[in-house]
Amino acid sequence: MAAATEYRYNRLTWAELDEAIGRQPVVILPTGSTEQHGRHLPLDVDLFLAESVCLETAKRANGKALVLPPIGYGLNLHHIDFPGTIHIEPEVFIAFCLNITKSVAYHGFEKIFLVNGHGSNQPLIDLIARRTTLETSSLCAAAGYFPFARDAFDAVKETAVMAHADEFETSLYLHLAPERVQMDLAGAGDDVMGTHVSSDSTNPRVRFNDYWSRWTDLGVHGDARPATAEKGKVIFEAAVAGLLEFIDEWKAWPLAARRDFHTRPVQRDIRW
Ligand SMILES: [Zn+2]
Repeated sequence: MAAATEYRYNRLTWAELDEAIGRQPVVILPTGSTEQHGRHLPLDVDLFLAESVCLETAKRANGKALVLPPIGYGLNLHHIDFPGTIHIEPEVFIAFCLNITKSVAYHGFEKIFLVNGHGSNQPLIDLIARRTTLETSSLCAAAGYFPFARDAFDAVKETAVMAHADEFETSLYLHLAPERVQMDLAGAGDDVMGTHVSSDSTNPRVRFNDYWSRWTDLGVHGDARPATAEKGKVIFEAAVAGLLEFIDEWKAWPLAARRDFHTRPVQRDIRW
């Protein structure tokens, strides 16, 4: 039966899914965006990279993970001055994704994992994971795929800024689908640096995100020019290896019964 080896959630029949619930694979929801990524990359970067990493992870996980159809849109109003970008209001994004995670929980899957490819979705998926855990009997965690590749990338990178349509993302795209990368148009975007705030999305003490048309002509942050497919392979393998480790950890994570420490009755009918 294909059910034991299939790693795409929606390639299973309902009867095969029913059987899969008994094995308790980690159910992964990739989240991305449809967003400008400079003149050299298509709008699907965040979606394509996150989904590719998730699918390869689940493929190698031998039945321990199932990947849901991904979310291809995200919080993006700050990129709207660049043609093509699609914006979803954060409240809508959270509500939509929560409906998905709660549906998965409803069927009996106990471990859910959001894997994000679009930086601006990060605070939203953190909230979705928390709310899913607090409002269902399942556990939900959230992460970007990039932190899992960070150390490996640090060892091969040639540029300091890791942000957007940069050496990191361009390299990974070159590894996965070089025919869609227009390296002759790859450029560098200015990093706007203050003492505490920076347009570099990796290390600011103070978080701030402006309309990107105010600080970049290309739609790039960082420098895409040193990107190579070889670096992309390093990133891809590190991200997949790290996520595979986490799948094992998350699958084994205890789902303990809640305990009520009140000595007097609580108002159980309150709904937040
Ligand atoms: Zn991106």
